[in-house]
Amino acid sequence: MKILLTGGAGYIGSHTAIELINAGYDVIIGDNFSNSKRDVIGRLEEIIKKEIQVYEIDFTNYEEVDKLFSKEEIDAVIHLAGLKAVGESCSIPLEYYRNNIESTINVLNAMKKYKVNNFVFSSSATVYGVPKAVPLKEDMPTSCTNPYGWTKYMNEQILMDVSNANPNLSIVILRYFNPIGAHESGLIGEDPNGIPNNLMPYITQVATGKLPVLSIFGNDYPTKDGTGVRDYIHVVDLAKGHVRAIEYSFKNRGIDIFNLGTGKGYSVLDIVNAFEEANNVKVPYVIADRRAGDIAECYADSSKAEKVLGWHAENDLRKMCKDAWNWQQHCIKLN
Ligand code: NAD
Ligand code: UDP
Repeated sequence: MKILLTGGAGYIGSHTAIELINAGYDVIIGDNFSNSKRDVIGRLEEIIKKEIQVYEIDFTNYEEVDKLFSKEEIDAVIHLAGLKAVGESCSIPLEYYRNNIESTINVLNAMKKYKVNNFVFSSSATVYGVPKAVPLKEDMPTSCTNPYGWTKYMNEQILMDVSNANPNLSIVILRYFNPIGAHESGLIGEDPNGIPNNLMPYITQVATGKLPVLSIFGNDYPTKDGTGVRDYIHVVDLAKGHVRAIEYSFKNRGIDIFNLGTGKGYSVLDIVNAFEEANNVKVPYVIADRRAGDIAECYADSSKAEKVLGWHAENDLRKMCKDAWNWQQHCIKLN
């Protein structure tokens, strides 16, 4: 079975490639490297100990997409390609709508033409907007607070409409919570451009001394210690969720949505403490103002994924912190 991984050179895609290959699938990576580095491929090959097929392709360009589908016998697509920075999406919304929606439409059109019926989509917990209650279940109301979130919301709607129109399709929407950590080898991980927006890459760069201090955005939320609570999931667990989703898509038709999280909420201070303890390093921090658009608390009810896909996250917070730190130390040498 040949799986096309759009955005396969990125943080989640590269880890997903490994898990798919370990499970016996052939993988083709398609990426325009707008937010990843070409040398990720070499490091991926070092981990899996074989060559990986890669196309440098922009999924917003239909001709390029058609060419890829005409050359390769693709059985299924996992569509991860997309722009993902919330703040940036507020500054350049049109680029986000164009990139994230056009690429999905192009892939779906090519799938229709070449009779590919299996599709897994990278969605996000951001589609739950400001949660009225936690843990979040898949059938809870959705809404968004920024253009990035709306691109996920709109893509989900497109997929529902396309599924209604074509009963042969099998579509799985995965709503990720907060992936952190890295592959155990330390050869791949998250390597954000510029100053990181997300908590864990910020912490690892403070721990190396590259950044002086972590600003904790608010300690007056209605949470156990006042800092924001999220559902952090090891990226390798998330990657394994894609393997289960693909297996499920081959056995079922229609459309289904699954939360991929651990079901546990950790505060920012929990993460700082766990990181310091796991790695025996200090993470100096200051309490700063709340970040615009942040919510107090967000964590998953992932029981549907457990029941239907037979998937649950296995790695604990300590392992996430250790692997994130291991990757950061390798990453310094690579950059
Ligand atoms: P990433 O930026 O590391 O990976 C995305 C990859 O897609 C990059 O390699 C980028 O170069 C590529 N890409 C972007 N637009 C493209 C295009 N038009 N054509 C070809 N390639 C293109 O991001 P990630 O963290 O691995 O996220 C993967 C997916 O999961 C994204 O769709 C993201 O929105 C979604 N997601 C991520 C998170 C998270 O916290 N990381 C949470 C929820 C959902
Ligand atoms: N956060 C923080 N300082 C940072 C980055 C993030 O205090 O430099 C907090 C943020 O307010 C939120 C949590 O860490 O409560 C997770 O933020 P992240 O951006 O990683 O994920 P998201 O908010 O998108 O779930």
